[in-house]
Amino acid sequence: MSHDLPRGTGWIEVICGPMFSGKTEELIRRLRRAQIARQRVAIVKPATDTRFAGDELVTHSKQRIPSRLVCNSSEILAVATEAEVIGIDEVQFLDAGIVEVCEQLADAGKRVIVAGLDQDYTARPFEPVPQLLAMAEYITKTLAICVQCGNPANRTQRVGAASGRIAVGSTELYEARCRRCFVPPPAAPVSPEASSPGAGEAEARDG
Ligand code: ZN
Repeated sequence: MSHDLPRGTGWIEVICGPMFSGKTEELIRRLRRAQIARQRVAIVKPATDTRFAGDELVTHSKQRIPSRLVCNSSEILAVATEAEVIGIDEVQFLDAGIVEVCEQLADAGKRVIVAGLDQDYTARPFEPVPQLLAMAEYITKTLAICVQCGNPANRTQRVGAASGRIAVGSTELYEARCRRCFVPPPAAPVSPEASSPGAGEAEARDG
């Protein structure tokens, strides 16, 4: 990924897609490659996702990599000070400031790799991922497989009761669906939680 930019130049990579599409696995794969090349790697994820060990990224396939929990995007700048490569998982869980943080890190010569959901369970764009996609040099869209028909799936279907755009720790409440099999949920009443992806909303982890 890095060979078309001169050394010392930073950039942003976005890995996005629905649940069960392997975003975290792809993030870990890239971070491992950097570690093998003895690059200094920092890994962060939002503290809101605490279903698993707090200091590790864990995928459904049980790969693990040490990570730091952050409560907001500005904490990432301190974590990344010594790093050449910064990985950010579940980026849709962070505040809108993450866009500027990623820009600052890339401008400072760092490789920034973010992974997250690009749509919520209603198939709306999941901020701040759309903004990050616009700023990124490299974009990877991961697809799952539709559990209904086997086609490529780019949407996350809620199949159980939950609150928030995506509920933490409840992958059993969701499944990957293609655009044909996806059924939009009935319109929810407008609430503060429904209008922004901030605190109080829970997010899905990827697998
Ligand atoms: Zn389908």
